[in-house]
Amino acid sequence: MSDTSGPVIVVGGGLAGLAAAVSLTNQNLPVVLLESRPRLGGRASSIVDRETGRTIDNCQHVSLGCCTNYRHFCETVGVGDSFRYESRLNFVAPDGRIDRFESSVLPAPLHLFPAFRRLSYLDGPDRRGLADGLRRLAGERNPAAEREPFDQWLRRHGQPENVVRRFWHVVLVSALSESLDRVSVAAARKVFYDAFLAHRHGWTVEIPTVPLDDLYGSVVTTWLEDRGARVELASGVEWLEEADGLVRRVHLRDGTHVEAGDVVLAVPHTRFRPLLPNGVRDRPEYVAAEALETAPITSVHLWFDRPVTDLPHAVFVEGTSHWLFDRGRDEAGHYYQVVISASRTERAAPREELTEQVVAEIRAAFPDARDAELLHSRRITEHDAVFSPLPGTESRRPTQWTPLPNLQLAGDWTRTGWPATMEGAVRSGYVAAENVLARRGQSVSLLQPDLPVAWLSRLLFGPR
Ligand SMILES: Cc1cc2nc3c(=O)[nH]c(=O)nc-3n(C[C@H](O)[C@H](O)[C@H](O)COP(=O)(O)OP(=O)(O)OC[C@H]3O[C@@H](n4cnc5c(N)ncnc54)[C@H](O)[C@@H]3O)c2cc1C
Repeated sequence: MSDTSGPVIVVGGGLAGLAAAVSLTNQNLPVVLLESRPRLGGRASSIVDRETGRTIDNCQHVSLGCCTNYRHFCETVGVGDSFRYESRLNFVAPDGRIDRFESSVLPAPLHLFPAFRRLSYLDGPDRRGLADGLRRLAGERNPAAEREPFDQWLRRHGQPENVVRRFWHVVLVSALSESLDRVSVAAARKVFYDAFLAHRHGWTVEIPTVPLDDLYGSVVTTWLEDRGARVELASGVEWLEEADGLVRRVHLRDGTHVEAGDVVLAVPHTRFRPLLPNGVRDRPEYVAAEALETAPITSVHLWFDRPVTDLPHAVFVEGTSHWLFDRGRDEAGHYYQVVISASRTERAAPREELTEQVVAEIRAAFPDARDAELLHSRRITEHDAVFSPLPGTESRRPTQWTPLPNLQLAGDWTRTGWPATMEGAVRSGYVAAENVLARRGQSVSLLQPDLPVAWLSRLLFGPR
């Protein structure tokens, strides 16, 4: 077998690379983390807003109770307490009413049924249609579910138009950042099964109370360096040198190189292929993975002169805005973030126009906003925010193993069974790290167990 004495080079300091670096360091392997940008966090990171001087996130990121590996990662690096938990969703109904959605005392999967029945913007037939749709979707474990677009499935099962627009669209566009015609039935099922049906805490929303940079920036750097790992920022990798079937060296854009024992390549799917050695680069599975389609997410950052609602968050059932998050008061005013997923139309709109539209929706929903003055605003669009879970996507996601035994892939886009999320990224990093350890003769299980499926859910819908 090959040389396993050299360090593990992790390329990419997003959550996938960080999860791999942290877990391998925890197993006492020498790790070097190379990140091309001057900061860690990748797509989940913060920037400094020039006008206010405040550190703001590129976009509000939230996780759910079912994201067990992400939680494990945060606890490992010591930021597990930097979240608030919301077990009540505040839906802004089309008529402006606020519908509070929370669990009952019933066991899963019945815990949310009373809340579904109370949604003011669905009538009796809608609610019955929704209950039928949820039951049928939970039972969709056939491989064909991966090949059918979800909008087609909804039509096939006669889901009422109101339920499609005011329920399925609202939940899935936020969870997967895609329109219902660009989501497979399997991807839709995963969201509902894991978050809403399998376990009563699967859907608890976990919201960071600090900027993302405070979660994944200097805290993780210090954690790694204190344990002997090296973190090199502004260190873009140009190519991986292979000889005799192994990656031997990692070449940087500045002309230097690092000797490698193993490599975890944790860069986005749009970036990984040019870095691969000849002979591996043009493999059909990697050409297919590079071509995975993506969806944009836009965040609109607003500072008002006062609080506009006492709700910590709101989910808009209709309209341009999807979620509103209260980020608290700072020197620039009272700060809110509005997230617009799958923002293909909105990213093209002039900034002022989009801001006006979002502010109009906030004023319509919250009377206190009508007299509030908007002091400052900012729009950020991430154009390749997430890969689109189109029908057929799962088979195009490569495994973490590559044909070169000391090269692993990681990233939310690699095969994890999860959509593009922080949980998916951390899972990929843990699997890549398990593979590195296995190659070095250590059989270690790093992946964390899912939340257990409630007995009644298993009885009614079968296993995951
Ligand atoms: C706007 C937005 C909102 C989102 N909201 C949520 C949410 O609410 N909840 C959720 O769970 N997920 C959310 N996501 C998705 C989540 O951010 C991603 O799934 C996750 O962060 C991906 O992590 P990653 O490590 O796989 O990739 P990335 O974060 O893209 O990390 C890859 C890293 O590789 C580096 N890199 C690239 N090329 C090189 C090179 N040549 N050399 C060295 N380094 C290189 C990049 O700079 C980057 O730091 C959101 C994403 C966006 C963009």
